[in-house]
Amino acid sequence: MEIDESSSAAATMDEPQEEASAAQPPRIYRLDESVVNRIAAGEVIQRPVLAVKELVENSLDAGSTSISVTVKDGGLKLIQVSDNGHGIRHEDLPILCERHTTSKLSTYEDLQTIKSMGFRGEALASMTYVGHVTVTTITEGQLHGYRVSYRDGVMEHVPKPCAAVKGTQIMVENLFYNIVARRKTLQNSSDDYAKIVDLVSRFAIHNTPVCFSCRKHGANRADVQSVTTSSKLDAIKTVYGISVARELMEISASDDNPDQSIFKMTGFISNANYIAKKTTMVLFINDRLVECSALKRAIEVVYSATLPKAAKPFIYMSIELPSEHVDVNIHPTKREVSLLNQESLIETIQSAIESKLMNCNNTRTFQTQAVSSAPESSFSIRKDIQKNPSSSGGKFQKTPINRVVRTDSRDPSGRLHAYWSNGPSSQHQKKSDLASVRIAVRQRRNPRESADLTSIQELLNDVDQNIHSGLLDIVKDCTYIGLADDVLAVLQYSTHLYLVNVVNASKELMYQQAIRRFAHFSAIQLSEPAPIPELLIMALKDEDLKSTDDNDMDLKNKIAEMNTELLKQKAEMLEEYFCINIDQEGNLMRLPVLLEQHTPDMDHVPEFLLSLANDVDWENEKECLQTICAVLGNFYAMHPPVLPNPAGDGIQFYKKNPKSIDDTGDDLKNENPEKDDLDQELLAEAETAWAQREWNIQHVLFPSMRLFLKPPKSMATDGTFVQVASLEKLYKIFERC
Ligand code: ADP
Ligand code: MG
Repeated sequence: MEIDESSSAAATMDEPQEEASAAQPPRIYRLDESVVNRIAAGEVIQRPVLAVKELVENSLDAGSTSISVTVKDGGLKLIQVSDNGHGIRHEDLPILCERHTTSKLSTYEDLQTIKSMGFRGEALASMTYVGHVTVTTITEGQLHGYRVSYRDGVMEHVPKPCAAVKGTQIMVENLFYNIVARRKTLQNSSDDYAKIVDLVSRFAIHNTPVCFSCRKHGANRADVQSVTTSSKLDAIKTVYGISVARELMEISASDDNPDQSIFKMTGFISNANYIAKKTTMVLFINDRLVECSALKRAIEVVYSATLPKAAKPFIYMSIELPSEHVDVNIHPTKREVSLLNQESLIETIQSAIESKLMNCNNTRTFQTQAVSSAPESSFSIRKDIQKNPSSSGGKFQKTPINRVVRTDSRDPSGRLHAYWSNGPSSQHQKKSDLASVRIAVRQRRNPRESADLTSIQELLNDVDQNIHSGLLDIVKDCTYIGLADDVLAVLQYSTHLYLVNVVNASKELMYQQAIRRFAHFSAIQLSEPAPIPELLIMALKDEDLKSTDDNDMDLKNKIAEMNTELLKQKAEMLEEYFCINIDQEGNLMRLPVLLEQHTPDMDHVPEFLLSLANDVDWENEKECLQTICAVLGNFYAMHPPVLPNPAGDGIQFYKKNPKSIDDTGDDLKNENPEKDDLDQELLAEAETAWAQREWNIQHVLFPSMRLFLKPPKSMATDGTFVQVASLEKLYKIFERC
């Protein structure tokens, strides 16, 4: 409707809103048809890749079994899609590229049950408003085909007969020739070709009976070349490569509760070994390639919570829903669909993925266990440790300097000791303060009940049955000589010298102590409640330092929140059996004493909590208890301090204005410029930490090992105990002692 009342003292668009209401309203005009069409076209065909999507979908709708895409200049110069589908009738060619001409929909109600990709009759028309379109097509039984070009929705000439092979070939040239700004942006932005390759790859793995190819114009080799197959996994292998395909697990879920969601999901998801910078999520809903950011996020959350290292998964998922539950018409490019009961559908998929990932985690853990048949193997849940068990002791030692949490003054982990009421040496003085806590804890215990827990008895038996008697003799009667480096100690037994990995040995000792003291722990009270969500975020950041992506804070918050919830849910059991006290606000309050005179390094609290939330099998009693003991063991083990050892090359770390060290060095305090160029405060802290640890190894760890450690057989072969055979080595070690 045209509005034509007052004279045209129209306010300009630039004028402020308040004034505009006082002034005369602007005139409203009806836009020219060609402008309308061009605007609409710009919306439907936003980028070359979307033109390809529309053309490929048309080819699929035409029942093609072979679709090839050729692209020049990222699609700006040429996009050509050829198929072997049913073709287009000669008599339809005049209206083919008019807006709203389609063979797929006639009444609005058809939208409810529509199975074809297209339905709006807009794609081809749009392309003719922003590019030059040429169609060559032949239908079955014809002797020749026709070729015709279109501009602005209409044929430029009558269709010319031509030779043609079965199907249709549509060529779009000079895309956006008349939208200068768009063309410029696209020319400057990185090539759309990669997006087109990605798109065709996605179609190829879902539509396995169709053979796809995608190549640059003039190139001999196609960048995507699929073959007809019945197996989706084979298709993934062909398109994404064996390195992706071999890390995939098949997954399915379904729900036919009419009150909730009715759906069937099948697909493939990556396992813990798949490491990528970005999530790849190929999602088809009722065979439409769509995006669903809520689902993608939900899946990422499950991965980060279950397999933190593989938090960016590869997902191929096909979801079938009753068509009346899907609104396909909510997005101009049909990129998104709206689903009924989206929330519950996402939840069902989340839990299916979660249990699949848990299983794969468990399988890996117990596979290792089967080989080494030692409880130690249960520490190997994390992939990096598992791959190379003998080097696990060096994990913290090898932490690159820029990953050392304390070096960043903005990072609160350096202040963790604030939560810590007493240092290791003064713990005994605090004992009276703890007495009341202990009494409270003991009162709530029911010793008979814990004795009744057969799984803890089984774990004790497992330890007993797995003793390596030779190592037991060594442990009982050895003399401690000294540390050879950050993780290896030298022991003498009879006339032999042994190197012992103190990290592995202490981990095992603590694990066994946790089992033995089960439900009978004394408590270590933290001086201040330690907020679990914050600590978890710290741990996640530390794990994730390699990724430069800062945008996933939301995700980290979400994971931290989920993990805190989980720990809060388990709080009663953790308190009852392990004296790990978590309050209802989500604060860590108390930890157990595994060995008198020893307290864990509080710098490792964040990863302990992350591990407690993620590495514990909460399903089965025995596994649950075992994994909690393992997580505790790892936390209490005598890892090298987080600060590098100033006795060796680590001294570099304490230099002020270091040239060779990366930007973390900037955070070192410069308060004492008169003393060399070393940060004396940090250095002193490090020296104390290292000296303390050395003292603990000699006076706490080895005496306790003599008393309590039952060395498992695996320790003889995994590098925990190594007999030093050569004299040269001997001298080296003595030199360093
Ligand atoms: P829609 O796909 O929404 O129907 P399009 O503008 O994409 O609208 O296509 C218009 C019509 O042209 C389609 O309905 C279809 O009948 C015909 N068509 C387009 N591409 C092909 C093709 N590759 N093979 C056969 N028919 C086609
Ligand atoms: Mg279409």
